Amino acid sequence: MVFKGSNLIKLMLLTQCLTVLCQSEDFDFFYFVQQWPGSYCDARRPCCYPTTGKPAADFGIHGLWPNRNDGSYPSNCDPNSPFDPSEVSDLTTKLQSEWPTLACPSNDGTGFWTHEWEKHGTCSESNLKQHAYFATALGLKEKANLLQALTSAGIKPDGESYTLSDIKGAIKDGVGFTPYIECNVDKSGNSQLYQVYLCVDTSGSNLIECPVFPHGRCGSSIEFPTF
Ligand code: 5GP
Ligand code: 5GP
Repeated sequence: MVFKGSNLIKLMLLTQCLTVLCQSEDFDFFYFVQQWPGSYCDARRPCCYPTTGKPAADFGIHGLWPNRNDGSYPSNCDPNSPFDPSEVSDLTTKLQSEWPTLACPSNDGTGFWTHEWEKHGTCSESNLKQHAYFATALGLKEKANLLQALTSAGIKPDGESYTLSDIKGAIKDGVGFTPYIECNVDKSGNSQLYQVYLCVDTSGSNLIECPVFPHGRCGSSIEFPTF
């Protein structure tokens, strides 16, 4: 094929634009999701403590999920970017304590981090490469101390039940933003506090009010189980 000079330049510009478009983000914000281990372990499926030991009685990270304002979300965006533990070796100890796995069979957490990176992390790779993705999630957990916000308002993991509005109000007061609360059910069918969603801007640096909430309902009285 022969290109005149100007056509060649146009082609090069087009290729560059397409490359930029392909690499640019396809999401509007993140959900930063934390799980209460007592509710994961009190549900109908089994739970297993990590090989590194029983996690602390605190919320643990589930994930940092790119999401769109219309409620949809991209997933598994880059099969050429597998989770590479050597890239986050300086974060492993913190990941073990702050992002512990409770799935069976027991393992050291690598399977959970691999799943979260490959399903969600690869969709925000234009903004956060692998190390930044995990470091950002760890930093967000420090900014959003859910257990402190809840206990300051008298909402404790004591097996008692609380109202949804009290739980949301306590987190809004302590963390500064209104969360989405996801419930699951324990073995006797009681609704319990399972996951808390907060929203974060596309840089991963700032908590924001959620542009859209997931769908789902908790019972009118929500148990906060011990762990
Ligand atoms: P579930 O169907 O149990 O609510 O969610 C299963 C998985 O789908 C979640 O762990 C997460 O990976 C993904 N997921 C569910 N809801 C959302 C959502 O609203 N946004 C994003 N980004 N991922 C979600
Ligand atoms: P999601 O697709 O819901 O983000 O991630 C859930 C996947 O991660 C499931 O395949 C689940 O088995 C695995 N997983 C490993 N450890 C945990 C854990 O502690 N909590 C949850 N919710 N999922 C876990």
